[in-house]
Amino acid sequence: MLGLVFDIDDTLYCRQDMLVKAAETVLGTRVDDPLHFIKIFYDKSDINMKDLESGRITTREINGWRYEETFKALSLPYKNGDGVLSADAYLELQSHMALSDDMIRTLDALATNPEIRLAVLTAGESEHQRHKVDMLGLDRWFDRENVIVSGETGFSKPDIRLCRTVEEKLGLKPAELWMIGDSYKHDITGAMDSGWHTIWINRSSLPKPDRLPDFEVTTDQELTSLLRTQFT
Ligand SMILES: [Mg+2]
Repeated sequence: MLGLVFDIDDTLYCRQDMLVKAAETVLGTRVDDPLHFIKIFYDKSDINMKDLESGRITTREINGWRYEETFKALSLPYKNGDGVLSADAYLELQSHMALSDDMIRTLDALATNPEIRLAVLTAGESEHQRHKVDMLGLDRWFDRENVIVSGETGFSKPDIRLCRTVEEKLGLKPAELWMIGDSYKHDITGAMDSGWHTIWINRSSLPKPDRLPDFEVTTDQELTSLLRTQFT
């Protein structure tokens, strides 16, 4: 028996495109280097993730702040309040989001394999992440109790206690588990420290880390084809 544990954002669907598009809509200008934009936005996201998970600040507030910090760092033309407007535009885009056909076919194939159990391990605030689970229709493949949102546990990625929670829920040993995620720091190191296997979606083609994951891919297509080859 194997357990495949998926991160949601930028793993099951591509969140980065929506974050940049929302900013471009509000600012009325193109972001020249989307990967650099995302790198700064995600660096800022690390700073107050704990406050978000504990509910001390809302997703809207924090995303508004992250946007304005990113605009500032990139010298993009913005006025006060454009951050929150971008956060709202991003939420609006999210309300139409969907998994790719390729990902749907892959999850369908994985879900019919009796030797595989599926779970989700996602960081963030409970209500926001649960809404995403509903929007993406993830209950088709993932039992609700196997969807773990860090904000509901009191632990933040990459705390290995999150991995222990998943092991308990799925009734599987560390060596039977695979973490699939885009953040080396949050998804991959915690899983490695827990003795899990790992698949890293290195979307920004970051340099090779010291500790290598079992597999590294850079695109959605590479990910789905790897999952089908390895697990179906
Ligand atoms: Mg992610």
